[in-house]
Amino acid sequence: MKPSITNTLSRKKEELIPSEAAFKMYCCGPTVYGPAHIGNFRTFLTQDVLRRTLECAGMEVLHVRNITDVDDKTIRESQKLGLSLSKFTRKWEDKFHADCAKLNMLPPSVEPRATEHISEQLSMVEKLVDTGHAYATKDGSVYFKISTFENYGRLANLDREHMATQMTNSAGEANNADEYERESVADFALWKGRKPEDGDNFWKSPWGEGRPGWHIECSAMSRKYLGDTFDLHGGGIDLCFPHHENEIAQSECATGASPYVRYWFHSAHLMVEGEKMSKSLGNLFTLDDLLKKGYTPQQIRYALISGHYRQQLNFTFKSLDDAKSALSKLRKGVSSTLKEAGMSEEEFNKLIKPGAEFAGTIFEGAWNAMCDDLNVPRALGEIFAALGKFGGKTADIKALGSMLYAFGLDIFADNSEKAEEIPAEISDMARRRWEAKQARNFALADELRKSIADAGWTVFDSKDGFDIKKSQ
Ligand SMILES: [Zn+2]
Repeated sequence: MKPSITNTLSRKKEELIPSEAAFKMYCCGPTVYGPAHIGNFRTFLTQDVLRRTLECAGMEVLHVRNITDVDDKTIRESQKLGLSLSKFTRKWEDKFHADCAKLNMLPPSVEPRATEHISEQLSMVEKLVDTGHAYATKDGSVYFKISTFENYGRLANLDREHMATQMTNSAGEANNADEYERESVADFALWKGRKPEDGDNFWKSPWGEGRPGWHIECSAMSRKYLGDTFDLHGGGIDLCFPHHENEIAQSECATGASPYVRYWFHSAHLMVEGEKMSKSLGNLFTLDDLLKKGYTPQQIRYALISGHYRQQLNFTFKSLDDAKSALSKLRKGVSSTLKEAGMSEEEFNKLIKPGAEFAGTIFEGAWNAMCDDLNVPRALGEIFAALGKFGGKTADIKALGSMLYAFGLDIFADNSEKAEEIPAEISDMARRRWEAKQARNFALADELRKSIADAGWTVFDSKDGFDIKKSQ
């Protein structure tokens, strides 16, 4: 079978066929103003699994993921700290890369920064002004005129009638925020005239000093590295409107090419313990928050990829514990078969790569599940079912190696468990203590705290639950 996904634009499952030699894929990258949280990582990991699956299907993938290093948030936060925008954003960019590496994500083929592509963005804006799709305002800003693009709203399935009313109501008005809700459909900013709060962060343009709006960077950079039309564009579902809708409008009007993107790939939201993630609930976990609780990057990766990308994933501490058991079951199953087959774990590590044939092996069902709208949960189930029949045949071992590559699980190469050094039983007790506290069972919580202390560890409350440290 060949990989397919549900294309947001057609709302249908479609087989992914590259239009040229390489499969060209663009994913909206991070805005680097703080550490990414697990909701962001769920989206990036889903894209990583898709890319790996395409590679296992024999495709060469050209993967572009941008760095948003200028926007409302990065400017505001860098000013607060009195740092230059580049110094501030570079720090968070480095942190993002370190987190991605821990989670075993493949680095993109190209990772362009918005601030290094100002001229590409400007020339696109100029073209839109010249062709009547955009207009300048008195403050030196430029707005895209959405009434000039017939297909506006098709991707996000915006109600045409509602939009028509909106356009009449907001006639002459324009929206200069980078992010806004459906109710605020209006002409959006391509270029923002310089304001005092921008500080030193401005560039020269035909309309005076200013900076690009957020949406234009993805149109300009995807065009530069992938061309006017490319295969797949990915992002979290929250980017579908307005960001991706605006990208389509800008790109198709500026280049005249249609479609801008052949397949749109959106992943659903992440919930934490059944609730929406938010700062006020204190559940915006970062990778470091979870590592401090004793979980390994591989367990976190497993928990974040194990749901279907089109369904909301409820991330819980139990799901991390389940990931831990699943991984250890997987290791045991593979390990004993390798022994029978006379293959070492090191030798098997070298087989975790694309290239194996799945047809006719016991992992064919798992591969077919991955091809069927990237059904990771079904594929994982198939893997565990197949392990029972695993007799160590070479073709089966190779197929398993490629399957693990698709998931990004180097099951015998995860050194992070040693690096973190918190024994499993300690993190387990700490989690149970935390749950006991949530349930107001303070006697049990206290008992567990004592047991942890007796074992030489200290558990204490933190803003997002608990942390564990070796006792002094
Ligand atoms: Zn984007």
